Amino acid sequence: MYHISLITGDGIGPEISESAISVLETINDKLGLKLSVETLLAGDTALKKIGKALPDETLDSVKKSDACLKAPVGESAADVIVVLRRMLDLYANIRPAKSYPNMPALKDNIDLVIARENTEDLYTGAEFEIDNAAVAMRIISDPASRRIAKYAFSLAKQRNQKKKVTCVHKSNVMRKTDGIFAKACSEVAKNYPDIKFEQMYVDACAMNLIRQPEEFDVIVTTNLFGDILSDEAAQVVGGLGMAPAANIGDNFALFEPVHGAAFDIAGKHIANPSSFVLSIKMMLDWLGAKNNDKKCFEVAKKVESAVYDVVKSGSKTKDIGGNKTTSEFTAEIIRKLI
Ligand code: ATP
Repeated sequence: MYHISLITGDGIGPEISESAISVLETINDKLGLKLSVETLLAGDTALKKIGKALPDETLDSVKKSDACLKAPVGESAADVIVVLRRMLDLYANIRPAKSYPNMPALKDNIDLVIARENTEDLYTGAEFEIDNAAVAMRIISDPASRRIAKYAFSLAKQRNQKKKVTCVHKSNVMRKTDGIFAKACSEVAKNYPDIKFEQMYVDACAMNLIRQPEEFDVIVTTNLFGDILSDEAAQVVGGLGMAPAANIGDNFALFEPVHGAAFDIAGKHIANPSSFVLSIKMMLDWLGAKNNDKKCFEVAKKVESAVYDVVKSGSKTKDIGGNKTTSEFTAEIIRKLI
């Protein structure tokens, strides 16, 4: 039995959480993998109700669980996800951009992953004001850069695709900070002679993700660049509604959609739950690897195939060119699963 903590979030968070819970219940009831789910509050709703965006009880329950699923939170995101990533030392943010059929995509047959350093860079919130200016501290360390580089290379090895790692930075301008990142990646590359290694400036990468996304395998980059490039990569393959992510540490991991709370469509019942359902797929793969549990891998595959088959049949939510509501789309995923 795996105990899963699930933060329901804000905006479209509760809607896509309902879909995720249905999928988890189906797995538990029909697919022979025992899961228990505990729903938790964090984000704007928690701030309003409890006075804290990340309540202590939520943090305690997340820590006690085997893995966490987190729906997007709104304005208080920096006080929830950024804190969880740092507190739980979830240093690798893994964001796949993979083609599914029938998508409003720029190109097809894309299968790339962005490995984004998750604990440093401009996202530590170390900012201060002097007179009428503000300063943000960009901290990039050698150990954190090496750690994400190692993760990216082992991912490229395990994926067994193009066996290539592209290190993305801007060391011609940010010589010290990105200099450390680029050097750490190049040194780690020497331990993986069977993996091709290349470096690319972030502006060139942004262009190449549109021009020739099929050339990428694993992109390793710093926190802010990874955040921006992963939204771009998601759009290249069809949109944020299809984009899951994993925040991985040595002992724990948290899985969430790449997108935010999408307040513009909240309550309209049109949110695409695939990003969260595919986050379940990533969670099961991680649990499978951590616990050497074949059943998790088997069910992870089934979850991905169910989403694949549903969109292939032409049944889609509005963001990807269809007219299904969130619950109709979820019901079809469940039908494919069982
Ligand atoms: P954040 O900075 O927190 O990531 P954001 O301002 O980038 O948030 P998102 O909430 O990610 O904004 O949404 C960007 C756009 O994508 C919005 O127009 C939203 O409607 C759309 N969108 C995001 N997620 C989904 C989804 N699951 N289904 C349908 N549309 C979505």
